[in-house]
Amino acid sequence: MADTRIVVIGGSAAGPKAAAKARRLDQQAEITIVQREPEFSMASCGYPYYVGGFFDDRNKLICTPTGVVRDPKFFLNAKGITALARTEAVAIDRGAHTVACRRLDTGESLSIAYDKLVLATGASPFMPPIPGIELEGITTLQSMRDADYLRRVRDEGKLTRAIVVGGGLIGVETCEALELAGIEVTIVEMLPQILTFLDPEIAKLVENHINSKNARVITDNAVVEFIGQDGRLKAAKLADGTELPTELAVVAVGVRPNTQLAADAGLDVGRGIRINEFMQTSDPDIYAVGDCIEVTHLLTGQPFHAPYGDLANLEGRVAGQNVIQGNGVKFPGSIGTGVCKVFDYTAGCTGLSEAAAARAGIGNLVAAVATGLDRPPFMGGKPIIMKMVADATTGRLLGFQAVGLGDASKRIALAAMAIMGKQTVGDLVNADLPYAPPYSPAVDPLIMMAHVLENKMLGRMKGISAGEVKAKLDAGDDILLLDARGPDEFEQMRLDVGETLIPLGALRKRLGELPQDKAKEIVCYCKISLRGYEAALVLEANGHTNVKVMEGGVLAWPYAKTVAAT
Ligand SMILES: Cc1cc2nc3c(=O)[nH]c(=O)nc-3n(C[C@H](O)[C@H](O)[C@H](O)COP(=O)(O)OP(=O)(O)OC[C@H]3O[C@@H](n4cnc5c(N)ncnc54)[C@H](O)[C@@H]3O)c2cc1C
Repeated sequence: MADTRIVVIGGSAAGPKAAAKARRLDQQAEITIVQREPEFSMASCGYPYYVGGFFDDRNKLICTPTGVVRDPKFFLNAKGITALARTEAVAIDRGAHTVACRRLDTGESLSIAYDKLVLATGASPFMPPIPGIELEGITTLQSMRDADYLRRVRDEGKLTRAIVVGGGLIGVETCEALELAGIEVTIVEMLPQILTFLDPEIAKLVENHINSKNARVITDNAVVEFIGQDGRLKAAKLADGTELPTELAVVAVGVRPNTQLAADAGLDVGRGIRINEFMQTSDPDIYAVGDCIEVTHLLTGQPFHAPYGDLANLEGRVAGQNVIQGNGVKFPGSIGTGVCKVFDYTAGCTGLSEAAAARAGIGNLVAAVATGLDRPPFMGGKPIIMKMVADATTGRLLGFQAVGLGDASKRIALAAMAIMGKQTVGDLVNADLPYAPPYSPAVDPLIMMAHVLENKMLGRMKGISAGEVKAKLDAGDDILLLDARGPDEFEQMRLDVGETLIPLGALRKRLGELPQDKAKEIVCYCKISLRGYEAALVLEANGHTNVKVMEGGVLAWPYAKTVAAT
């Protein structure tokens, strides 16, 4: 029997993974990768860190862990794969089972025959039709060339001001990279918040963190025009009329799956190329993987675009196996897990935020915010502000968000496994996790978060979010805010919204200072709201009937605070 001919279009993450897996399973197959770019297997996720100066050797983005650059010679020698760089697939003839390609450097045409074809064409940054977008000084951060350009900007050290259009994952990572280059950066986000995978009050904490650097965030405002001089960017005009002088703009308003080739070939395409659980398109001989496809959201059941490097690799692995062995393995879908570094903060989520669940029509939710330390204080523990969302009836975990100076990534990973495993808040309450002080406190923050949510579900704790408290204050509601921390902590940082300070240790003796009207609404809190919770229990035991705990405490308060000068 003739050797199987596998052709892969796209040579970044998903494509080479599919090709390498196919090779591991079949040493005889003829495997070809067609790649438009000069490089292969680019670690795009590393671009912001190359631009930001975390490392200097560009080749580290395209080499194996042992330092070998993944070029056509490497693919041929190490993997027996023909890798065609600077070659574009221009059409697929499904009847003839051929791919028409063009060599970009010579203009030469070639036709490559396949038995099985894998589409891994990725996604392209969306360029909004803003007047002046063609000016010099406006770029994206999607390709090696973009990374080279921005790295040059860093190394030359001439620019002083930049804007990043879009406050998504790539936008905030780019903001950090440019700030580290000594550039004053402004993120302009059209929506009311950055990082829309987070609920607004959690995203606001990240925004505050960015604003504490040589960077600032403008939300609810869009760039409506780029203004140039002699063809070069000079300023960006915003919807409210503001003009921001800037010499550089990085547009990061999202990516669109590259589906044209598939659509032209008559394949089923929605928001991305449609595939089944075997990564097979509507043509059984054509598979598709990575950023060019749409996948099933495992919680909503809806198709969605999940442009993540880890998924691209997992999907590539499944397709690589299936093109060789028949449809033996499945990729079930995604729960939308992601994380990013925002200066000293980590910010990420898994599953659904409260807002995303509402958008998907999932009701009957219970959610809570909690703040915990990633290690004991004596080991330099740093705070993580978390939000957990669950089904109110069954307790099934639906989502988890975490941001802060502490190791949020580990908790997001744990929560992702719990969601994938269909676990409930009750399961997490007694989860057996590893504990030693260098790694976590005795009760891991994720478990502590589950305790808070369970207390709320069981009615032991009447939680109220910072957002709800702020709304009450803004509406002039008659509430008493009780800060249960010590006076030193209060001096260091306080909400300054008319709160009353009664430290938890003094509360039992000072109950007489509280309103005689036992039905008056009292909201208790502390730094993280553990003492706040205990204060609430003391008040309830003394007949107060309308006592709440502000979830997450002062550290989760995303609005203006008074902080003592240091
Ligand atoms: C700056 C940045 C930071 C990121 N950070 C993270 C992160 O921290 N975590 C995370 O999970 N994800 C991250 N991502 C996303 C991640 O990089 C992508 O999900 C991943 O690269 C997708 O891989 P892919 O192979 O599907 O597509 P791509 O990487 O887009 O590669 C597709 C390739 O196909 C080629 N191609 C397209 N059409 C053709 C054609 N007709 N013929 C030949 N070749 C073609 C393209 O030129 C491209 O090289 C980041 C992305 C960027 C840009």
